[in-house]
Order: sequence, then structure tokens, then C-alpha cells
Amino acid sequence: MDKSANLIGKNLPQLSDILSNAGYQNANPSLLAHTLYKKFGRPLTSIATYPKSLRQFLEENFSTDVLQPILKLQSTDGTIKGLFENEEGKLFEAAWIPAVKRMTICVSSQAGCRFGCKFCSTGQNGFKGNLSVYEILSQIFGLQKPFNHIVFMGMGEPLDNFANVKKSIDILTAWWGVSLAHRYVTISTVGLIPELQLAIEQLRCNLAISLHSPFHNERKSIMPVENIYPIHEVISMLKAQKFTPKRRLSFEYLLIKDFNDSKFHAMETGKLLKDMESHVNLIVYNPIPSQNFGAPDTSTIENFRKILNLQGLRVTIRKSSGYDISAACGMMTASR
Ligand code: SF4
Repeated sequence: MDKSANLIGKNLPQLSDILSNAGYQNANPSLLAHTLYKKFGRPLTSIATYPKSLRQFLEENFSTDVLQPILKLQSTDGTIKGLFENEEGKLFEAAWIPAVKRMTICVSSQAGCRFGCKFCSTGQNGFKGNLSVYEILSQIFGLQKPFNHIVFMGMGEPLDNFANVKKSIDILTAWWGVSLAHRYVTISTVGLIPELQLAIEQLRCNLAISLHSPFHNERKSIMPVENIYPIHEVISMLKAQKFTPKRRLSFEYLLIKDFNDSKFHAMETGKLLKDMESHVNLIVYNPIPSQNFGAPDTSTIENFRKILNLQGLRVTIRKSSGYDISAACGMMTASR
């Protein structure tokens, strides 16, 4: 069966149209959506309240299969990394990251990326294309269960594929879909101001801004997007918005040895984020083969955190999951 006849990725209005076009205007489309997403894996014939003829029609004409990883690796810390390939041969990655109460799936929104951040393996290998809603949801349903958090922090810039990311999040958070709380979904972005404004208006999920340096020229040297959307403009725009504990705004700061890990960087980062209702995630750099960057030592990381704390910022030091299986974004794909 071809992908056009696959129901995964369809939203409620599309499912309603399918039922109506087949002559079943009175069939409740939310039952079909619920079986597809909340009860993923159940056969469509299990929708007992649908007439037998409709169940047969769905079973004979539509697939609910998702892509399966072509390679799956498990780390000693429990992280599972999956490499997926779409029909055009484009590769993309997802990771399942277990913690005590939190099972997170980190998904890709694009095959490759056009933003070329110097510290990122994906950014070094160019842009291959946007992922469809089906391909995004395949990573979530096809990698590993259970999950209760989704982060768009894999390959690609989610806001550069806004329509498909938005539709995926709608399916993940809708009452008729997976019904995850919005606060359990996070989009990470380098800060594309127009799309960020749209995300604030149209999505209710958490936002994580890739900061990595408080200085324009330094950020520009590792993140070309700084030429178009300087971080000071991104922050001015964010300061004009209202964020609540239900919708978290955070900043990701990748600590790179002898590059952006000094006390001065910590002081200036604190000043930049002053008076914002936000959280800082310090991420220790996970080296990639093509770059000479390194990871700072533990005392440097701890000092950086203390300086931010002293300036009133809430800070988490994030350990790198799946270190032994190349879990950094794009490393599995780069090795193919
Ligand atoms: S860090 Fe994100 S935006 Fe930058 S190159 Fe990598 S995937 Fe793209």
C-alpha cells in the first residue's frame, strides 16, 4: 500500500473527510483518530461502534504502519538511538531517553539542516529536506515505548518546517490524538524571529532557545543565523511576551572548552537574561570528529552554573545521554 493511503499524520478534519467521502457521514472521526494515535498499534477493526462495512473499508484501503528504524543502538545509560530512512533515501535520527519518571523522545524535524552551526554534526552535512508529519510521527511511534515527553531537538530547525511541526504537535496534544499536555512538548530553535512569533501565537508548547554565547561576533562565528537574527533581537522580542510556568521558556547554552566557558561569559549571559521568566540548560559539549572543540572540566562547568545562579537564574546542567552510541544530533547519519 502506498504512503498516500496511510492514515498516520492525518488530523481530525482529514479523517472526517475520508469517512464522509466513503459515505459514512455519521461515523465519529474522533474514534478513528483515537485508535490511530492514543491506541497506536490497535487494528482499525477494533473500533467496535463503527459498522462492519466501514471497518472493512478502512482495513482494506488504508495502512497505519509507521517507518521502522533501519539501525537501533542502545547506550549503557539506557538511551536508545534510531536511524530512519524515508522513501527518498533521506536519513534522520531520533533518540529515546529514559529517566526516573520521564521518558523523552527527541525527534528530528528535517533531514539535515540549512543553518550550519559549527558545533553540530547535522549542520556540517547540509540540508536534504523537510520531514513530513508522517515521518515525524514515525519516529515517535516507531522507536520505543513508552514516552511522555517529546522534544524537537534532533536533526533540523523545527521552525524552518513550521507547518509540519505544528500539525505533528496538534496530533500529539489534541484530545482526539495522543493527548499529551502541551507542557510535555518542547521545540528547540536557533531563534527565527518571524516563525518564533508564530509559534508563540499558535502553539502552546515549551520553547528552548539555542543561545551558546552572549556576544554577537562570537555567536556569529559558530551560528551563522546570528547574521540574520541577532540574539539581542530575539531576546527583546521574547521579553515582550508573557510566559507562565505552564509554558516554559528556556535557553540552551552549550559549554565549549576555552571558547564560551569563562566567568565573563557567565556574567554577560546573566545580564542578557536578567528579568526573564526563564531557565538555563547548560549542556556539556559532546565532541564531533570534524571540529576541534572540546568539553570543559567539571569545576569550570560548576563555576559557570554558580555565577548564573548568583544572578538569579535557574540552571540545570544537562548530561549528554547516549555518549557511547553517538547520540549527539546527526552523528549516526554522518557515519553512514
Ligand atoms: S544545531 Fe540545530 S539549527 Fe544548528 S545546524 Fe544543528 S540542527 Fe541545525
